[in-house]
Amino acid sequence: LPMTPAAASPSSLHILEHVFGYTAFRGEQEAIVEHVAAGGDALVLMPTGGGKSLCFQIPALMRAGTAVVVSPLIALMQDQVSALREAGVAAAYLNSSQAADESAAVERDLVGGRLDLLYVAPERLLTGRLLATLDRLHEAGRIALFAIDEAHCVSQWGHDFRPEYLQLSVLSERFPAVPRIALTATADPETREEIAQRLALGDARRFVSSFDRPNIRYRMVDKDNPRAQLLAFIRDDHAGEAGIVYCLSRRKVEETAAWLGEQGIRALAYHAGMAQEIRAAHQSRFLREDGIVMVATIAFGMGIDKPDVRFVAHLDLPRSIEGYYQETGRAGRDGLAAQAWMAWGAQDIVQQRRMIDESEGADDFKWRARARLDALVGLVETTGCRRQFLLAHFGEEGEACGNCDNCLEPPRTWDATDAARRALSGVFRTGQRFGAGHVIDVLRGELTDKVRDWKHDQVSTFGIGAELDDKTWRTLFRQLVARGLLAVDHDRHSALTLTDLARPLLRGEAEFALRLAPEKRRSKRSRSTR
Ligand code: ADP
Ligand code: ZN
Repeated sequence: LPMTPAAASPSSLHILEHVFGYTAFRGEQEAIVEHVAAGGDALVLMPTGGGKSLCFQIPALMRAGTAVVVSPLIALMQDQVSALREAGVAAAYLNSSQAADESAAVERDLVGGRLDLLYVAPERLLTGRLLATLDRLHEAGRIALFAIDEAHCVSQWGHDFRPEYLQLSVLSERFPAVPRIALTATADPETREEIAQRLALGDARRFVSSFDRPNIRYRMVDKDNPRAQLLAFIRDDHAGEAGIVYCLSRRKVEETAAWLGEQGIRALAYHAGMAQEIRAAHQSRFLREDGIVMVATIAFGMGIDKPDVRFVAHLDLPRSIEGYYQETGRAGRDGLAAQAWMAWGAQDIVQQRRMIDESEGADDFKWRARARLDALVGLVETTGCRRQFLLAHFGEEGEACGNCDNCLEPPRTWDATDAARRALSGVFRTGQRFGAGHVIDVLRGELTDKVRDWKHDQVSTFGIGAELDDKTWRTLFRQLVARGLLAVDHDRHSALTLTDLARPLLRGEAEFALRLAPEKRRSKRSRSTR
């Protein structure tokens, strides 16, 4: 086999110190580096800022030949290549931003064995010509490894899906002797398995780092007068500090940035509809100057490595827990205290639900989008620890954190134990084959056509929940799903089914609390500023 024994090469620690200038590995880095350097496949889950790059850059220098790094973002590629070159590593990239003679020179260096690392966009890697070159290098034992960065782009259900990533499975068939390492910061347990399966990494060793960001304080407030709430939050907690404010629409980004400016906050706007030069100028001011607040759509942030972002604020609901985690993860990368703040209201949920309903996607795509939204809504509505909820979503268990709004100021709740039990029996009595909407109709005693058709006006749960309104029932069902007592079967029209976690509640051994709806505060201001 064309492999160089790792023992013959400089040690990983030596490279860490002498090439990268760090004194110690972080977390799982060393184990990953040794595993890949020895020729093993790896699937790495590490939060943003955790230090994924070294996990393939160091093995690239330990093994013979060139490491090929697949990366979907041109800007990220360029940053990494220039940083590597500054450190004296022979790195280059091939992507669509290059002139023909430039890429020809890179290809010559590749063939000539003069590159330690080659970064490529996935569509470029999959061209016949580059694959043929790699075939020849492979025969000569001169491909060190393949690294697939942002591996969640292979997931069809994620929001970063890139069709070309699906074809990367060809690497395992075509270059069986070359170790492969896939890395991502975004993956719940299902997505993780999807990545492993689609990239043919079923046997790869998994390295899952904790996703906890203990220095970030999570806070979610009920939207009342969002601009005033945001301004108070910035003035009271983060005067003169750098932060990011996320909004859903470009127009809202511009209006919010302008308004913050009028209030004396140094705010800049950023979204994909702005001229490239202005965007770049705003980004570089944000990175270089102190205390700038960037008001942006989610177009801003990927690959931004600014350690002292003290807060991330959301004026609109993110699309999913993954999105929320990734966006808020840009705060406090230096490890010092930071805040993730969000203002949300029930109308946001309604709006996003409508956007999904009206979107173009196939049914199956819509169900998953709805499930993602429901999980996020579970997070905003939970009365328990936010961090615990977030981490549970990524498959991690933990104690209540003491550093989120719910831990610091437990919300007022109402005892929904009895209602939750009725909801569960409502699901059971109708045969565990209907979605929340129909079960709620049955509980509330609504004589809809569907209720009549299925003779659900004759089941014992018909009308036993008439005293609670539709909205309260919806919140309750969402929480039952979010906390895992009910499962949603996406292959059967979002039918609800009972899980094992429902048993203690049904047996009377557990309680169920819900957040008390905030009283409507109708200040004059909140009605006029719209
Ligand atoms: P990710 O890709 O996981 O978001 P990066 O690889 O960009 O993270 O690393 C994030 C930051 O941490 C970078 O500035 C990097 O130089 C730094 N870093 C990574 N590993 C170490 C280490 N072992 N010691 C000190 N700094 C590190
Ligand atoms: Zn907490």
